[in-house]
Amino acid sequence: MKMADVDVVKGLLSVYARINSTCTKSNLNYKPRLVAVSKTKPKEMIIACYEQGQREFGENYIQELVDKSTDPIVLEKCPDIKWHFIGTLQRNKVTKLLSATNLDVVETITSEKLASAVNAGWEKLKKPEPLKIMVQVNTSREEEKGGVDPEKCSELVKYVKENCPSLKFLGLMTIGMYGYDTSTITNPDFLALKACRETVCNNFELEESQVELSMGMSGDFEQAIELGSTSVRVGTTIFGERAKKEPSSAANQNG
Ligand SMILES: *Cc1c(COP(=O)(O)O)cnc(C)c1O
Repeated sequence: MKMADVDVVKGLLSVYARINSTCTKSNLNYKPRLVAVSKTKPKEMIIACYEQGQREFGENYIQELVDKSTDPIVLEKCPDIKWHFIGTLQRNKVTKLLSATNLDVVETITSEKLASAVNAGWEKLKKPEPLKIMVQVNTSREEEKGGVDPEKCSELVKYVKENCPSLKFLGLMTIGMYGYDTSTITNPDFLALKACRETVCNNFELEESQVELSMGMSGDFEQAIELGSTSVRVGTTIFGERAKKEPSSAANQNG
């Protein structure tokens, strides 16, 4: 595979420009975070983005995240990198996940048992700060997508807040259904996640600004921002198309 440094930078800068113009158009008084989804892409591309000022990167395969985050060259060149885990997480993989360096947010907490396991694992590591987590909501109710049903979301947030002192609840995340043409319709998954936030805010007397929304990918991040996304996860537009994973890793795949 040929590494096209220039293209990655171009892709990144084009996403920055599109985010900025959407913020201006929507009169936002905050800037949504860009999580550059680098799954399957080589560390050279990550370093190239880091050198442009990008700090947040997303991965959804645990072994790949651990390998990249502990890579001596990444550690040396990207000391302030912040990793978001955005893939399917099973309880027996929690210890492995938490062995990643500079893990900033786990976006895919989907059950009380998983929350407890991550909480216990983080506690053991005796870090000074709690680990930031998001509750993943299955807004499209597709079997193959992870997450709690929308009506269960508040319950899981409550569980995290009351039983997981080593976790910090940051907000809600959805993947949603692929393929909506957001130039003609409003993505119902974005509306559903917004509605979940409203419920959570009402139940816990929080301001909207205290509950993040992680939604929007390459095909629809601008509309996601218009609808209140505070964190977009963009891969293909920055790094180019991904090669298909081998079937052996399909079980870990999340989209
Ligand atoms: C791969 C992935 C993305 C990025 O998708 P693109 O369409 O390549 O931008 C975002 N979120 C999750 C959870 C992913 O698995």
